[in-house]
Amino acid sequence: MADTDFATVSDALETLRRVFGYDSFRGDQAAIVEHVIAGGDALVLMPTGGGKSLCYQIPALVRPGVGVVVSPLIALMQDQVDALRNAGVRAGFLNSTQDYAARQEVESAFLAGELDLLYLAPERLSVESTVRLLDRGKISLFAIDEAHCVAQWGHDFRPDYLQLSALHERWPDVPRIALTATATEATHKEISARLRLDEARHFVASFDRPNIQYRIVGKNSPQRQLLELLRTEHQGDAGIVYCLSRNSVEKTAEFLVQNGIPAVPYHAGLDARTRAKHQSRFLREDGLIVVATIAFGMGIDKPDVRFVAHLDLPKSVEGYYQETGRAGRDGLPSTAWLAYGLQDVVQQRKMIDTSEGDEAHRRRQATHLNAMLALCETVECRRVQILNYFGQKAEPCGNCDTCLNPPETWDGTIPAQKLLSTVVRLRNERRQKFGAGQIIDILLGKSTPKVTQFQHDTLKTFGIGTELREPEWRAVVRQLLAQGLLAVEGDYGSLVLTEASAEVLGGGRQVLLRREPERAAAAKARGTR
Ligand code: ADP
Repeated sequence: MADTDFATVSDALETLRRVFGYDSFRGDQAAIVEHVIAGGDALVLMPTGGGKSLCYQIPALVRPGVGVVVSPLIALMQDQVDALRNAGVRAGFLNSTQDYAARQEVESAFLAGELDLLYLAPERLSVESTVRLLDRGKISLFAIDEAHCVAQWGHDFRPDYLQLSALHERWPDVPRIALTATATEATHKEISARLRLDEARHFVASFDRPNIQYRIVGKNSPQRQLLELLRTEHQGDAGIVYCLSRNSVEKTAEFLVQNGIPAVPYHAGLDARTRAKHQSRFLREDGLIVVATIAFGMGIDKPDVRFVAHLDLPKSVEGYYQETGRAGRDGLPSTAWLAYGLQDVVQQRKMIDTSEGDEAHRRRQATHLNAMLALCETVECRRVQILNYFGQKAEPCGNCDTCLNPPETWDGTIPAQKLLSTVVRLRNERRQKFGAGQIIDILLGKSTPKVTQFQHDTLKTFGIGTELREPEWRAVVRQLLAQGLLAVEGDYGSLVLTEASAEVLGGGRQVLLRREPERAAAAKARGTR
């Protein structure tokens, strides 16, 4: 504990007030700061907006030497460093965007002991000259930001992070603090193991964001549905709209502008200047909407984002949670709204099937998608489901769509059997696989050209499903997918059976389905705000 001889907790509080202008620490911050100042390792799990930065910035300022912050957010380093400099903190960064002269300047400052904080892109640490540089200076701590990037099980794995385990071997006496806003229990364990944080104290904050109202609706006309949401509940509010593809980002931004709503696009295909311009407009202007791919948002600290809308299904609950977490950092009521449909599932399965990487990687992605689907189709409180996913317990929140409008469940065993047996017949009798559209047409007894062409009107299940309408059948398919009783495969989104399907077909398993309460729920949710 020799370190505490010259650095105490009151120094920390004094630094918090003098440099950052805040009166007191929040939540676990004080305990974390105290622990790291004393030289201990820490693993910090805290939701977005929880105040992770101060957990390493304060100890870096209080302990002698330079705090080295490893961060994958290269695009934000300049902003972060500028903000710190404005507060009088001596900060610099090293990443691939710099020219030689800029790098030299930072390196000299580091060696001269004229830096408090040095931000590093992870790949810098595989450059031997950087390691030698660090060896020649005095390091107060290592902060590993976005630590979930080290976990292959997680949703945002970055190979460069794997080498961070070497920090401990090379500098065994320097305390390390790893931080993330998203980690399931599996990811949490993996971070700890991969970074060799054996002795670290774990600080796990509640992941609950009580001011965010979670809502997930069926997608039929997503742009129109979004417009309705904005006009009825978020007139003039700042928000983020996430779309999967660059193309839909552009189209959706245009659509909003045409409808008189200020919006700008943001995706990796835009040139750096346009991106920077749109980002800074979003940060500075009131009531601007950014329509973006997931390239947007990491590290963005805008307190009054009133809604985050997803027009496509996120790939994982971690991603969804991180993206929706950008709403309502100021603690005021905010909306996380997601529209999702069967096509999302088909598209994402296809992306997984054709993705690079080994079988294990594909299996992980499929598991992430299944958890996301289960969240979409749950009949329980969304918040409970999300928090359980992160290994935390919660009571029904009374504020999400399923709490406000508890979906009724109904016994969907017979429709499920009808649908699955159509899939079986196509496979067994015809050696064919078809997507949901064709299977639903068969069940509804529709003589479409495609039905006639393949003589699907001669199947025994043709026309046996007229008790449900088309959207209801789509909901059945989605829920069977979410429950693992059906799977999607191949380029055309063919429906195929799973091992569990047999139990349903054999009558040994009841299938409970959620009745779609969308319209009623939306109306009620509006009324309560
Ligand atoms: P995270 O990295 O966990 O998303 P940040 O470190 O960006 O969160 O902090 C979120 C916001 O909360 C920032 O605007 C930050 O200045 C503010 N903040 C953090 N800690 C405190 C505190 N103790 N008192 C007041 N504001 C704080």
